[in-house]
Amino acid sequence: MSTKPQARPDQVDRLFLSPPHITQAEIDATVAALRSGWVAPLGPEVDGFEQDIIDFTDVPYAVALSSGTAALHLGLLALGVTAGDEVIVPTLTFGATAFAVTYTGARPVFMDVDETTWNLDPGLLDQDLRERARNGRLPAAIVPVDIFGRPCDYERILPIAEEFDVPVLEDAAEALGSRTPLGSTGSFGRAGVFSFNGNKIMTTGGGGMLVSSDAALVSKVRFWSTQSREPQPWYEHAEIGFNYRMSNVLAAIGRAQLARLPGMIDRRMEIRSRYAHQLGRLPGVRVVLDPAGSRGNGWLTNVRFDCTAHPGAPERARMALEARNIESRPVWKPMHLQPVFADAPAVVNGTSERIFADGLCLPSGSAMSDDQVDLVCEVVAEVLRAA
Ligand SMILES: *Cc1c(COP(=O)(O)O)cnc(C)c1O
Repeated sequence: MSTKPQARPDQVDRLFLSPPHITQAEIDATVAALRSGWVAPLGPEVDGFEQDIIDFTDVPYAVALSSGTAALHLGLLALGVTAGDEVIVPTLTFGATAFAVTYTGARPVFMDVDETTWNLDPGLLDQDLRERARNGRLPAAIVPVDIFGRPCDYERILPIAEEFDVPVLEDAAEALGSRTPLGSTGSFGRAGVFSFNGNKIMTTGGGGMLVSSDAALVSKVRFWSTQSREPQPWYEHAEIGFNYRMSNVLAAIGRAQLARLPGMIDRRMEIRSRYAHQLGRLPGVRVVLDPAGSRGNGWLTNVRFDCTAHPGAPERARMALEARNIESRPVWKPMHLQPVFADAPAVVNGTSERIFADGLCLPSGSAMSDDQVDLVCEVVAEVLRAA
């Protein structure tokens, strides 16, 4: 049997941004799970996957869910976020961070990010919470996001949140396997969230996980995720429930992927270094690196162009890559610029808008070859020479 996944004919030669990296191990695990008879959102692979994540992240409790978005939703509920509350979210993130806030009836407050890490700006956070404390309007939670796999500055963010007694939910959807001197991503708030969607660093074909060192919090989330079923022989409900649990079949894929994750992270970091080395020779573009002392998972390699010297370079590079059937992507469009959040409060200073204007995400999948990295660099170099 071929281990190469079937692709649509028009996609056979396409170089994707971050495609799933599936091998025979995942195929075998899926078949074994199906044969086991546990074809439901419960079973030994779900329990095993939770334990594997606990071992991998060193966070003591975990619950496997149907998506990262579901994990964010239940995490916010577990922190007590409710209708009418405000929740601080970095404006430079994927929409799901903010969508989950709205599911609770709370509203997101978008805050700008740091120029070097692209993560929640601790200075702005400090200033804003001080002002809110004076006005008696503290947020119900803060959701820092480890963007593109780069860990936030938790040495600054956590003491600020603690001073004002605001709980933190860490959106580590993009950052499984990233580490800082303080510990691994996912471990920093009252709870942390991972995603296993198709283009994340590892996948279950769609899935998520909530981790926490608070046993009661995790057991509450597990209860809600399985329709809030009370321990009775009939279906007894004292609370609203959710159908958010992970399938046993998908958990089997997750376990096979997680076993390969250290190798996949190493490869992504090699790709990052190769980009940094090749593109570092060109004036007008630079690769964004991890904050000092921490090691990201290399999920997506980001570059920034000097758009003064090279106007329009990010979009010209994207189009030139597209002409070679290579996928690249603009950075997440800031949430405060999204039509759906036009009325949301925003504490912004122009940083995320600059990053959106001059940044680009390059193909970073762990199955990429060195030649493919070199080709991307060559196309970018051509674009910069043409200006
Ligand atoms: C992918 C992602 C999510 C959502 O995860 P899903 O598993 O796709 O629901 C949330 N936040 C961020 C920052 C993400 O990148």
